[in-house]
Amino acid sequence: MSLAENIAQVQANIAAAAREVGRNPAEITLVAATKVQTSDTIRQAIAAGIRVCGENRVQEMTAHLEDNAYAGAALHFIGHLQTNKVRQVVGRVDLIESVGSAHLLQAIETQAAKLELVQDILLEVNIGGESSKSGVSVQELPELVNQAAASPHVRLRGLMAIPPVAEVPGSNRRFFAQMHQLYVDIKQNMTDNEYTFDYLSMGMSGDYQDAVREGATLVRVGTALFGPRPPMHPSKI
Ligand SMILES: *Cc1c(COP(=O)(O)O)cnc(C)c1O
Repeated sequence: MSLAENIAQVQANIAAAAREVGRNPAEITLVAATKVQTSDTIRQAIAAGIRVCGENRVQEMTAHLEDNAYAGAALHFIGHLQTNKVRQVVGRVDLIESVGSAHLLQAIETQAAKLELVQDILLEVNIGGESSKSGVSVQELPELVNQAAASPHVRLRGLMAIPPVAEVPGSNRRFFAQMHQLYVDIKQNMTDNEYTFDYLSMGMSGDYQDAVREGATLVRVGTALFGPRPPMHPSKI
């Protein structure tokens, strides 16, 4: 199948999963996870209807930005972000989805203040409690929400998660349901900027339909659009 056909198929699957649970498909945005793809492939994806690209690695993203490869799409940073690379990301992306520590949040606030802008962010939750994964624990999430609320140069737009890989199809759906509950609880407690807390980013190639069934508003899909990636060291994912 061609890239355009894959995009159409994934969009159709998202819409079907949404309708199954009575959701409006327009509530859900497909984020193309473009790691390891070339600038040309990214342009083709945008020409075929992709409206948001998600990048994992600062170096690749910087090269694609220099190529103007994302023209016509919004850009999200979805990978592990080291504080020493915050300068290369803040103000250059529409949304940083992967803020999982107080330290990183502070570094983003500091850089955004320096640039006199407000950076949209999501807090990444380690919903499966896996030691190998980044993200804030469910227990520490409220503290990070408070820190974000007290940071004038970041705007907290929602939550993101990468749940444990499903051993059996559907077996990680409960993590999506837990994420949705956390999202709803935080949204309800927000007083002044409730209307800007509107993103729940979860679901990848293997499980995005379940994520949609459980309330995702952003799904991040790579393999199902672009085909398999060459294997890489786990630390680079
Ligand atoms: C690569 C990646 C995805 C997409 O993964 P696929 O299984 O290829 O769909 C989603 N989110 C993040 C953070 C990623 O790094």
